[in-house]
Amino acid sequence: MPEIAVRMTKRNHNAFVHLLGALESQGFDMGELLITKDFNEILKANPKIVLYSFFTEEIWGSLRDEVRLLKERGALLVAGGYHAIAMPKHTLNVLGFDIAVIGEGEEVLYQLLTTLKKTGYRITKELANIRGLAFYLNGKFVFTGFAKVEDFWRFPPYPESVRLISPIEITRGCPFGCYYCQTPYIKGFRMRHRPIDQIVKYSRKMKDMRYITPNAFAYGSPGAILKLDKLEALLKALQPLRKEGRRLFYGTFPSEVRPEFVLPETLELLIDYADNRRLAIGAQSGDDAMLKAMHRLHRVEHVQRAVEYMLEYGFEPVVDFIVGLPNETEESQRKSIELMKWIMAKGGKVRAHYFMPLPGTPWARCRPSPLSDEMKKFLGRMAAKGKIEGSWGKQIELSKRLQKLIEEFYEEPMAYHGRVREVC
Ligand code: SF4
Repeated sequence: MPEIAVRMTKRNHNAFVHLLGALESQGFDMGELLITKDFNEILKANPKIVLYSFFTEEIWGSLRDEVRLLKERGALLVAGGYHAIAMPKHTLNVLGFDIAVIGEGEEVLYQLLTTLKKTGYRITKELANIRGLAFYLNGKFVFTGFAKVEDFWRFPPYPESVRLISPIEITRGCPFGCYYCQTPYIKGFRMRHRPIDQIVKYSRKMKDMRYITPNAFAYGSPGAILKLDKLEALLKALQPLRKEGRRLFYGTFPSEVRPEFVLPETLELLIDYADNRRLAIGAQSGDDAMLKAMHRLHRVEHVQRAVEYMLEYGFEPVVDFIVGLPNETEESQRKSIELMKWIMAKGGKVRAHYFMPLPGTPWARCRPSPLSDEMKKFLGRMAAKGKIEGSWGKQIELSKRLQKLIEEFYEEPMAYHGRVREVC
């Protein structure tokens, strides 16, 4: 029976597929792992270690029961992912994990597993030599530093010996630093890109080619500017794979593009080289003052321009909004309603989300604003007509839980560039 189990879920699938690719490429034998989405299979196998990766929003699900059952059986529990990085003490002290992985996991996971195998799956002082861990040793909290993998493309996105596929992470990091988003604080502000030949090599394994990136049109760029030649080179290089029957989805699920990158020249590339005719962009608010306050670094006019270009070129715009933003007035919400109406009248789709204060972000300690009656009625009416998608209703509850969690257990988050600036 394998002594190490990987607790895969729908939400951590992509992250674990990439981490397993990295583990295998460093010489770790995949045969030593039980990789499963079935928790009962893990219980039955009674492994010595179980690897988890989760977001804060998941800590109120079945996670705590799973931890309890595994602890009763004496397993050592390792947590990675956004929650463990932003709230390591909560992860260890309250959720009950033994080790939190802090930062980019490719190297630290390999070092951690090989060390634990040698030391009999116990927490020993050897772990202090591995960068990217938090744990308790003799009752003392130990943090060994934030793990960074600058050239993440050194590692393949998939393992070879296990049949696991996911959209490929082609770009890591984001320079924009939106105050509600965890990505730049965990992956860094500098964009790094997987080389084209590697993307092509691994895209061969996918039927529908899909990619993970914070801004698909920023491929090849330091982040804030468009590098059309690099983007075109990538899309062109994928064409032989399309000719073999694969479809190429670019700038849509599971990624999106920033509004100011939606231009005739980027849309023309998609028409020539991609199969999707819908594009996802983040508008977030219809009020320039709110966009400034959340550090979006684009204005409403960029969203309108992007929607108009998309429609002109035959793309369906899918536009995300966040409602209930900190310090959002009724007037700001009215401006968002106006922009949503304008998008829908033009034939675009709107997705509405309620503001969630995520740990590890500058807005972690900010309070959501209540929805105005006008906004509530508008969202309800549009959802009933099937014109607006999104789970803002559920997110209102989740947002309350997050606020309570952060109030009760606030800790200085671990971050890629040191301290996360607090804006509230
Ligand atoms: S929301 Fe998008 S653009 Fe803003 S910081 Fe996050 S990944 Fe970057």
